[in-house]
Amino acid sequence: MTSLLLTNADILVTMDAARREIPGGAVYVEDNRIVAVGPAAEVPTTADTVLDMRGHAVMPGLVNTHHHMYQTLTRAVPAAQDAELFGWLKALYPIWARLTPEMVRVSTQTAMAELILSGCTTSSDHLYIYPNGCRLDDSIEGAEEIGMRFHAARGAMSVGESAGGLPPDSVVEDEAAILKDTERLIARWHDPSRFSMRRIVVAPCSPFSVSRELMRDAAILARRHGVSLHTHLAENDNDVAYSLEKFGMTPADYAADLGWTGPDVWHAHCVKLDEAGIALFGRTGTGVAHCPCSNMRLASGIAPIRRMRCEGVSVGLGVDGSASNDGSHMLGEARQAMLLARVGFGPAAMTAREALEIGTLGGAKVLNRDDIGALAPGMAADIVAFDLRGLEMAGALHDPVAALTFCAPQKVAWSIIDGRIVVREGRLTTLDTTALAARHNALAAALVRGEA
Ligand SMILES: [Zn+2]
Repeated sequence: MTSLLLTNADILVTMDAARREIPGGAVYVEDNRIVAVGPAAEVPTTADTVLDMRGHAVMPGLVNTHHHMYQTLTRAVPAAQDAELFGWLKALYPIWARLTPEMVRVSTQTAMAELILSGCTTSSDHLYIYPNGCRLDDSIEGAEEIGMRFHAARGAMSVGESAGGLPPDSVVEDEAAILKDTERLIARWHDPSRFSMRRIVVAPCSPFSVSRELMRDAAILARRHGVSLHTHLAENDNDVAYSLEKFGMTPADYAADLGWTGPDVWHAHCVKLDEAGIALFGRTGTGVAHCPCSNMRLASGIAPIRRMRCEGVSVGLGVDGSASNDGSHMLGEARQAMLLARVGFGPAAMTAREALEIGTLGGAKVLNRDDIGALAPGMAADIVAFDLRGLEMAGALHDPVAALTFCAPQKVAWSIIDGRIVVREGRLTTLDTTALAARHNALAAALVRGEA
């Protein structure tokens, strides 16, 4: 057994049941589990490793509930800079069709490095395109190396243009093969245990790229294996119009009809979820991944997060794929969620503390986990620390917790994931980020130019 103590934090944000914020707080960890949390005097004072957190805010690691990490290779692509969802996808599909296994692994690590340095300790990723021998295993192996807690979603597209779908036929897969590969991945990688570092999620891409049958069969398969379900839903007006025209129902009714509601299901975006859909999701415990930057970038609209939370819908945050946000900064995403809620629904629509809560506890609930998202005895040791002494926070230290979201988003000084120090004094300990970015840039240039 090894022990770790973070002590004397200027402020310790617990996100526990009492939502305690403890000046001079400490967290004591044994192996990968939090054993004690409280004022420094009430927590064991020695450990194998002691980190003095004076000058820092310490909080639970943020949880990212929606991403397409491979898209870090296609940030700011000129042809996709100024389009809405469907036009943006059509510009990018032919480029993504050239992805290779190395590109998947390297882009996963790039996105994860960026996420970790922004305060995120658990992430989901939705990989739904598998050309040229790419497999979900490529991203899982990348995640193992960097040391991030990972919910790997086996995405899929099966309805190409010739069958009335959006993607070109060259990037869709056979439905039986999709289900077979999903079962292979669950058998090989899924770990349902408490403190699990790796879970598999069943995740057909969207209503406009897979059939009703695949959605239904995916839900049956997921329930048989006790794994979660994830897809895109009600992202913008065109997405809703497609659902009404092709299926004769709203996105929420379509989801309900195919078994896609419940605490083991979460849907990305839901910008245009109607009142009946919000009530349905609240009633059934269905989760939503809110992606404010992406929704702004693609002009999709403003998701009714206040309404959702009032109706008891579980809401987490997602940075979304890096081709529709171009950044993977989780603390920045919490800030954007707060700001966008206010644009849509007034200054009381979301507080700074609520944005942090959605980004931690909210994300944990959406991923159907009760072992992450808070600092309390018995929880996983996923802990981050932000240095409060820099220029960004100067003048805001009368309320350092609110300052985390009101001030310009920072990088973490420290990150502990599953009890392991993954960021030390602002530097990732598990990978060389300079070499990673250089390799990523070479692969991105080849991919976008078509020389892969
Ligand atoms: Zn997405």
